[in-house]
Amino acid sequence: MSYKAGPHFLQIPGPSNIPGRVLRAIERPTMDHRGPSFQDLAVEVLEKIRPIFKTSQPVVIFPSSGTGAWEAALVNTLSPGDKVLMYETGQFSNLWIELASRLGLEPEICEGDWRGGAIAEVIEERLLADKTKQIKAVCIVHNETSTGALSNVKAVRNAIDNAKHPALFLVDTISGLGSADYKHDEWGVDVTITGSQKGLMLPPGLGFNAVSEKAVAASKSAKLSRSYWDWASQLANNPTGNFPYTPATNLLYGLLEACDMLMEEGLENVFARHERHAEATRRAVRSWGFQIQCSEPKEYSPVLTGVIMPTGHDADALRSVILEKYNMSLGAGLGKIKGKVFRIGHLGDFNDLMLMGTLSGVEMGLTSAGVPHDKGGAQAALDFLAGN
Ligand SMILES: *Cc1c(COP(=O)(O)O)cnc(C)c1O
Repeated sequence: MSYKAGPHFLQIPGPSNIPGRVLRAIERPTMDHRGPSFQDLAVEVLEKIRPIFKTSQPVVIFPSSGTGAWEAALVNTLSPGDKVLMYETGQFSNLWIELASRLGLEPEICEGDWRGGAIAEVIEERLLADKTKQIKAVCIVHNETSTGALSNVKAVRNAIDNAKHPALFLVDTISGLGSADYKHDEWGVDVTITGSQKGLMLPPGLGFNAVSEKAVAASKSAKLSRSYWDWASQLANNPTGNFPYTPATNLLYGLLEACDMLMEEGLENVFARHERHAEATRRAVRSWGFQIQCSEPKEYSPVLTGVIMPTGHDADALRSVILEKYNMSLGAGLGKIKGKVFRIGHLGDFNDLMLMGTLSGVEMGLTSAGVPHDKGGAQAALDFLAGN
């Protein structure tokens, strides 16, 4: 492999680009994770992560991928054979459903068409029909990364309340937190699940569960087997800056820096920046003459945009031309939309000129790959960014 000048454009919707400040924070000698300096840092990071979830309740941090945090949420709150209502929004919701089945839970699936978020009315109907309260948890994905659709978490909370149903509310915001507004406390979520490598701008390797009092109470009688994922030993150790086993020490230095950066910019400004880049991207996509995978404008994701290829053209062929010629990685279509869709990530440590580089790379790639399209997508995004 010969040297390719200039930065690689990593425009997949996670892992996202890691800012220099975070890289430098991680690049430190590893500390004794049972010593006083590390304990001070751990106490600080466990405190500073809470406002990112908009919660005053505990946040448990595992050395894991997002998938581990999914598993932790389920095994701490549920028992073998429990029924869980899970909403199909795309490939990620489906992987979580599969994980729940493997653990011995019984998912009841609200089927979806992969073109939007979870529909609160559908959940309310299912809960109203559950007269004997067999459903123990409702599970949704906040930002469905395979399609680019955002679910209305508050509306689903209201649906659970309207049905007067006691089920726990579990939400995956692995690709949403730190990019799209999220309110763990105000939205009455029992377990919020996230990972480090998307909106939090870190490398992969940290999994998070923000937990409500109701979730902690449920964990006392939940009977699924757990050891590594057990909240109780984390929650007992965390107040003194300790962990039950070796934490991902250096990633926690990076997390502290990332929390500071999000707060310096201001969370609301971070969310507005993502919305603006998403809007500019959609204008480019429409100008090219393509459809957006999310068909519901109220549910457009601020994190990524899923683009439907014209029929007869393969998204993965386009992606490999763009990687080869312009040194940019775009997200593939996943699961049943493989080859039909590609995804443009516009999340994390990202600005106007990076977005213009990205959209220019897509537009040049369409020409290089011989995909018919209308010119002027990048120009439409430029006009929007310059005027807003
Ligand atoms: C990335 C992602 C996951 C999986 O996380 P891993 O870190 O790959 O295990 C799950 N759900 C959503 C919505 C994601 O974006």
